[in-house]
Amino acid sequence: MNCAERMKLLRAYRDVAAIYAESVNQMVDFVEAGLEPEAQAARRFARSHWETLETLRLALYRHEADHCCDRTSELAEEEMSEPAEPAQA
Ligand SMILES: [Zn+2]
Repeated sequence: MNCAERMKLLRAYRDVAAIYAESVNQMVDFVEAGLEPEAQAARRFARSHWETLETLRLALYRHEADHCCDRTSELAEEEMSEPAEPAQA
């Protein structure tokens, strides 16, 4: 079972990364087409999303460190590989 907050942060990180990548692609296209004002606008747009991206990356890192939900599957595998303990032990 994935942590809902971790998945929310991961999806937001992915979505903003896609917007960032697209704005960098546009910046290249504008420079190649000789459209410098448009290229500068795309650069500013990319920059603003880079900051959001970094904020999300840190939020994800902090959440995983505090919540340890990035280790859930590892722990689940360890639990499954160990013999089950009697309930009354
Ligand atoms: Zn979590």
